[in-house]
Amino acid sequence: MTGATPRTITPAHEIASQVSAGARSARDVTAAALREIASGDREVHAFLETFEDKALRDADAVDARIRAGEKLPLAGVPVAIKDNLCLEWGKTTCASKMLAEFRSPYTATCVRKLLDAGAVIVGKANLDEFAMGGSTEHSAFGPTRNPWDLSRVPGGSSGGSAAAVAAGFVPLSLGSDTGGSIRQPAGLCGLVGIKPTYGRVSRFGLVAFASSLDQVGPLSTCVRDSALALSVICGQDARDATSSARPVPDFAAGLDEPVRGLTLGVPRQARSDANHPAVAAEFERAIERFRGLGAKIVDIDLPMTDHGIAAYYIVAPAEASSNLARFDGIRYGTRAKLAPGEDLLTLYTRSRAEGFGPEVQRRIMLGTHVLSSGYADAYYVNALKVRRLIKRDYDRAFERGCHAVLMPPAPSPAFKLGEKLGDPLALYLEDLYTVTVNLAGLPGITVPSGSAMVEGRELPIGIQLVGPAFEESSLLRIARQYEASGAWMGRVAPRG
Ligand code: GLN
Repeated sequence: MTGATPRTITPAHEIASQVSAGARSARDVTAAALREIASGDREVHAFLETFEDKALRDADAVDARIRAGEKLPLAGVPVAIKDNLCLEWGKTTCASKMLAEFRSPYTATCVRKLLDAGAVIVGKANLDEFAMGGSTEHSAFGPTRNPWDLSRVPGGSSGGSAAAVAAGFVPLSLGSDTGGSIRQPAGLCGLVGIKPTYGRVSRFGLVAFASSLDQVGPLSTCVRDSALALSVICGQDARDATSSARPVPDFAAGLDEPVRGLTLGVPRQARSDANHPAVAAEFERAIERFRGLGAKIVDIDLPMTDHGIAAYYIVAPAEASSNLARFDGIRYGTRAKLAPGEDLLTLYTRSRAEGFGPEVQRRIMLGTHVLSSGYADAYYVNALKVRRLIKRDYDRAFERGCHAVLMPPAPSPAFKLGEKLGDPLALYLEDLYTVTVNLAGLPGITVPSGSAMVEGRELPIGIQLVGPAFEESSLLRIARQYEASGAWMGRVAPRG
């Protein structure tokens, strides 16, 4: 759209081949990533912490493993990790004052798997406090900015993970998605981001937000990288009883197989009046592009979508209020100071009042209310019924022969910092197209589609594909075909 040549970065799969072949060392790749971060992240603030020395040492260890003949699918790939995933080194803050000094005694399983595969963790990425939000403005340590336009948000809650890739610092990051936190920032930053099926990836070492919804997934500049990362991090884990025993295919291997006789469902609800004109226009173009690829487009109805946000903002806060009860200043979390004579209850309330930011407090109050006796039937139990009906809507679409459902990832492109901050409901409404996917436990992927000029700046716009449970392979193949039919692949934000 702009005159400048689009900027791309070397994708993770290419780095891994180069490092594996000895054409480049993991140390060089890591050092280059660290330099990019040092020069560019002051403006973007994608990272809460970087691990210069440790990353270089880890890179040396990867180079040694390669020399010893090990096959490492992510050899030397620099990765950013959302700071609600535990590492044995550095801090795990969840972007909360409550955990500002927390050092985890263990490493999340998904991160351990990345390390085993030869990835190098360069730092911890910013997020909305405890992953609650959609703009990364709710971080206790200051917002992350969208590399495409520094006056705009990168989305959230995995905004740091998205910005780290979109700024060209790293080709790959991990985020978590409870109601859209991978797919929405991927859309706002022009990236691929996948939320796997509930249970696909172990949550051991992920600080819980809403346990029946949380999933971990990758963000990257191309479909192949997300497929590669997904093959590494998926699989059953004895430390997470909810992780699935389903075999994990090599997602990257089948990527170029054509999806024959592809049928895509376009929900009536995806053409909501809430859509920004640029999102609405790109969505129609995407449908035409899929038609051009030979896909059959069918109109479908997901009537319960209209109740998705209401159900999600009952279920997620209810679970959050219970998960966050452990942060009391005694078992976990920063402890408030007491004056002589003040009691234990004061210690709890003051620690929580000082440690949690306003959005987290709002969710705890909301969650406690909808679970309280006398209200639980009206709110929580009804929301669970809606949840079941949302799942049924999707099941019907798949039973009708849809391979995937096509929707925007979010109704708006990247919005201005501060634009929605004073109005929590306006932010919640951005989750229209993502929360139902978590409520139904299904896999969903965002793929870059194009861009639009908004107030003189080029902003990326993505599309979202939602598939049947455990059908990530076919989602990735569809996403790959779409990617191959356009000119976006590998793009990151131009240098500012
Ligand atoms: N924006 C949603 C929320 O605020 C989703 C967050 C997430 O997926 N972690 O709850």
